Amino acid sequence: MAVREVRTAPFVFHVLTLFPEMVRQATAYSVLGRAAEAGLIAVRVYDIREHTHDRHRTADDEPYGGGPGMVMKVEPIARCLRQARAEAAPGTPALLMSASGVLFDQRMARALAEEPGLILVCGHYEGVDERVAEHYVDGEVSIGDYVLSGGEVPALVVIDAVARLIPGVVGNRDSLAEESHEEGLVEYPQYTRPAEFEGHRVPEVLLSGNHEAIRRFRREQALAKTRRNRPDLYARLQMEPEDEQRRPLRLGRPPEPAKED
Ligand code: SAH
Repeated sequence: MAVREVRTAPFVFHVLTLFPEMVRQATAYSVLGRAAEAGLIAVRVYDIREHTHDRHRTADDEPYGGGPGMVMKVEPIARCLRQARAEAAPGTPALLMSASGVLFDQRMARALAEEPGLILVCGHYEGVDERVAEHYVDGEVSIGDYVLSGGEVPALVVIDAVARLIPGVVGNRDSLAEESHEEGLVEYPQYTRPAEFEGHRVPEVLLSGNHEAIRRFRREQALAKTRRNRPDLYARLQMEPEDEQRRPLRLGRPPEPAKED
């Protein structure tokens, strides 16, 4: 994997939000919390409301042209972004969390982990004045085809996925290479003790100590699970020769004509 092996400064996630505590709390635990303690990453949270200038600290307003709900105003976000860009490492991209953005996936996570840091803008209510997307950020990112009530959870998803790829954050780097979506497959099923629970046994081959048999079993299982749960990924797979033999179905495609030469 093309991941830098040495970082001299922490990878800083700058998060712009109306709900700073949501982001602070959620990044304080487990892998992210430890990575921050170790100085590998940092999460800097900006309260968009601090960049409102009116007495009521208004961050949202009614949509032009009518329609339900409220839209987040452009000025506080633009001002807050200016501050974040000034504090971020030069060249740090700013991304707006948006249900209409480009779909986030493991490939995007790998690309983002190569950046000097990330600025993430969280929307709320009915969304964000389009001028933010058009003029103030470098891109819009969606975490999936569903609508959430705010950009905080999506930003946390991006932070978590990217942070895992920063060298040192996940202790065993081999575990990254074998995970779901690294090879266009979902991960093989994992088991741990006990070998039998309520009549359900762990597959015998995993107890055999035969490393080649275990490797083949896992590859087979990963393929079967991808086919079952993610036909979209399965259809795009480049089959290894050893997989071809046991490929159970040709996915409705006619067989390749035999080569004559
Ligand atoms: N009216 C908008 C949805 C607004 S949801 C629409 O139909 O597209 C409010 C905020 O939640 C958005 O501004 C965005 O920041 C965040 N959000 C909701 N769903 C998201 C998703 N799938 N990916 C990323 N951000 C999302």
